[in-house]
Amino acid sequence: MAKSEITAPIKVTGNSYYIPSMSNTGLFKGYVIDPGSSGYEELKGVHVHSVLITHGHNDHFRHACEFREKGARVIASKDDALLVRNPEVNLRGLFSWAKPPMEMVTHFFQGNACEVDEYIEEWQDSSIWAVPLPGHTLGEYGFITEDGVFYSGDSLYSEQIWGKYKLPYSIDRNLCRESLQKIKTLDYDYVVPGHGVPMPRQEALMAADYHLEALDRVDDIILELTAEPISTEDLVTEFSNRLELYKSINNYWLTVVMLKGHLSDLIDKGKMKYQLENYCMYWYRV
Ligand SMILES: [Zn+2]
Repeated sequence: MAKSEITAPIKVTGNSYYIPSMSNTGLFKGYVIDPGSSGYEELKGVHVHSVLITHGHNDHFRHACEFREKGARVIASKDDALLVRNPEVNLRGLFSWAKPPMEMVTHFFQGNACEVDEYIEEWQDSSIWAVPLPGHTLGEYGFITEDGVFYSGDSLYSEQIWGKYKLPYSIDRNLCRESLQKIKTLDYDYVVPGHGVPMPRQEALMAADYHLEALDRVDDIILELTAEPISTEDLVTEFSNRLELYKSINNYWLTVVMLKGHLSDLIDKGKMKYQLENYCMYWYRV
């Protein structure tokens, strides 16, 4: 969605609002949550005392520094503050810590560095509280307001998003599962996900189950494709073909990272083995 198409804040309930866009931005009593698509210009006239960041992906904090320049405090988790302060870490992560050629990294992944003033772990407000939901990143948090509105970042995808992306991105499949199970037990009436439309609780619970099934489906496909030893690169190709993923360098990077997370978990569970042969890493199911 282009910037000009960004709409005025929409009330979810009580004092909890959101601005729909490519990445949704939340608003609650002077807090702006995940200013990835909406910045100071879009929120002119709204008093913002603090910026809450669910996780350190650029599409969730791109405009944080604009609010900080106007005096707002920026609050992120200890783990993900590293990514907000030094967004290049995310890019290096994709490229095994080497410096990637910038032409291989789209704007979507490139960050607008911002100082973090306070850690979520040390921040407290009786009207809105933080819930750790690691898996998509190590330090992801969701925020639940006293109105019963849960801003879930990228810890939960709506079914609408599944049709578009098909890929349950996580860096740690097991942590991701635990966070989804936790989401099913939390107390809230509405979820405002990072992407897609808000969901009433019942729909969010179904989305959590769908997300959990999607993670299992990834394991199943990996186990099918590793009946014979297969190289990392061939596995990425076969897996992407199976899910008919959108052909882009973005999706390639996301798939590489996500598959490695699943392979790691399958090895821990004793379902997968690996062998290095002729300088090439092969994976095969047990
Ligand atoms: Zn994300």
